[in-house]
Amino acid sequence: MPVIGVLALQGNVREHVQALEAAGATARPVRRLPEIEAADGLVIPGGESTTLWRLADAFELLDPIRKLIAGGMPAFGSCAGMIMLADRLLDGAGGQRTFGGIDMTVRRNAFGRQVDSFERQVTLDVGSGEPFPAVFIRAPWVEQAGPGVVVLGTDGGRIIAVRQCALLATAFHPELTPDRRVHELFVSIVKGTS
Ligand code: GLN
Repeated sequence: MPVIGVLALQGNVREHVQALEAAGATARPVRRLPEIEAADGLVIPGGESTTLWRLADAFELLDPIRKLIAGGMPAFGSCAGMIMLADRLLDGAGGQRTFGGIDMTVRRNAFGRQVDSFERQVTLDVGSGEPFPAVFIRAPWVEQAGPGVVVLGTDGGRIIAVRQCALLATAFHPELTPDRRVHELFVSIVKGTS
C-alpha cells in the first residue's frame, strides 16, 4: 500500500487522511521535510493559499517541496492546494509564491467574486464519469492550461480539475463529500497504475 502524506500546515488535513484511507492508501499528516520525503505522494489540502505559502516559507519547506514535485513526486492539491501547484497565479497576495509543477495559470478566489461557496454537480472525467458533487469554497479556477495538461473537469465552461502526469488538482474539495473517485484516482497515480 502506498504511503501518502497530507501536508499538515493548515487546512482540511484530517478529511484528506480519511478520504485517502477509504481509497486504499496509508495516509498520514506530514510537516517535517524527512516525513514528506519518505512519502510516496503528497496531498496539499484546501485552506488558504496565502497561509500555506507563508507557513511553508517560514518552515523552509517552499523550495524543498518545489524540488520534490519538479523531480516527479506525485501530488494532489484541492482548492488552495490547486493554487499551490500552479506555475502561474493571478490575484495572489503581493509576493505570493507557489510550489508550482502544473503548467497552468490559476486565478485565486475566481468564483468568490460571484458567490463565496456553493455545491453543485460538475462534469468530471474520473472513474465512472458520473457527475460529481463538488463543494467550492472561495474557489480558484484554471484560467489557462498548457498543452501537457489534461482537463478532467469543467463547470460552466471553467476548468476546475486537471492532471499533468503525476500531478492532480481540483478547484473544489472532494475530501468534504463521500464520493471517493478523485482520491482513488490519486492513489492509482501514486501506485503507478493510472
Ligand atoms: N481562497 C483560498 C485561497 O486563496 C482557497 C480557499 C479554499 O481552499 N477553500 O487559498
